[in-house]
Amino acid sequence: MADYYSVLGVPRDASEDQIKKAYRKLALELHPDRNKDPEAANRFKEVNEAYAVLGDPEKRKQYDAYGPEGFSQRYTEQDIFRGSDINDILKEMGINLNFGFGGDSLFQMFGGAQSNRDIGQNILYKMDITLREAANGATKEIGIRHVKKCDACSGTGGEPGSRITKCTECRGTGYVTVIRDSFFGRVQTTAPCQKCSGTGKRYERRCRVCNGRGGVAATEKVQVRIPAGISSGMRLKLNGMGDYGKDGTGDLYIEINELEDRVLRRDGYNVTTSIKVPFYTAILGGNIRVPTLDGERTVELPQGTGPGARIPIRGAGIKHFNASSRGDEIVVIDVAIPKSLSAAERKLIEDFKNMDEGRQSKRFGLF
Ligand SMILES: [Zn+2]
Ligand SMILES: [Zn+2]
Repeated sequence: MADYYSVLGVPRDASEDQIKKAYRKLALELHPDRNKDPEAANRFKEVNEAYAVLGDPEKRKQYDAYGPEGFSQRYTEQDIFRGSDINDILKEMGINLNFGFGGDSLFQMFGGAQSNRDIGQNILYKMDITLREAANGATKEIGIRHVKKCDACSGTGGEPGSRITKCTECRGTGYVTVIRDSFFGRVQTTAPCQKCSGTGKRYERRCRVCNGRGGVAATEKVQVRIPAGISSGMRLKLNGMGDYGKDGTGDLYIEINELEDRVLRRDGYNVTTSIKVPFYTAILGGNIRVPTLDGERTVELPQGTGPGARIPIRGAGIKHFNASSRGDEIVVIDVAIPKSLSAAERKLIEDFKNMDEGRQSKRFGLF
């Protein structure tokens, strides 16, 4: 799969404006109404796909995180073009070329959808995970309500043992001829037969369990492996775990929602936590207990640590997505000052004060 940045010829850190300009130039150059080279139509599609992703901040973020391979594994063409209508985009950019597609969407024009085929729906499942699960990865079991393949008829929709005859619609070939308008004028294509889902067969009796649909609604347990380093908004794709369809089963997408943690706050791949220490520990130094992603740890506080000091614990942060290195934990020090003192405590602090003031006046010779 081609890298979207090189398709548009822009650097990885290109601004939104740069991306838009690059797309506009290429769209004008490759638009099928202007460029009759058949190769241009393919390039035009590629350019549109690249812009559908890089021109959308949210999709671009996902693309940057997963890379071209990971992205194409997780997103279908339908997902990629969702929310981006090419005619609108081009019009907005002042390019007024008529596609002549009627009401069809870009997606259908590019041959991605065969609306008459029985393809199962994709399912989107929103999953809450804790910061620790995001940091270290986890395996979670969820219950998915979806259409699964009917066991009784093995998904064919025909009653077991029922006589099989040729489909009357396609005369057993499994294909029908369709004439449609496209970029290149009127074209004749063959498409799988809708009536028999391209099998060419017809069962005399329908399966009684699924009523001929081939699938039944069911709740199934699914194990989801969550990779370490994942963050809110990212999606995991489980192939074939969506709804069953005779011509193909949909996919299951798990969208991650990371819950806030009570003590650790995520900041990219680092985590921060705030720790209150007694003033004497801040002055004298000493060991303090600090919560981390992997349980409590002892951290040495240097002598004379002031409020707001940031003490890093290297490698105690979140595992990088698709890499083995980890971020850091930053411990932010807060110093607790006692509100009330006993007489003896007060005496001690006053003694300290007098001693310190004596030293200061000697040093600066004020008196
Ligand atoms: Zn059945
Ligand atoms: Zn047929």
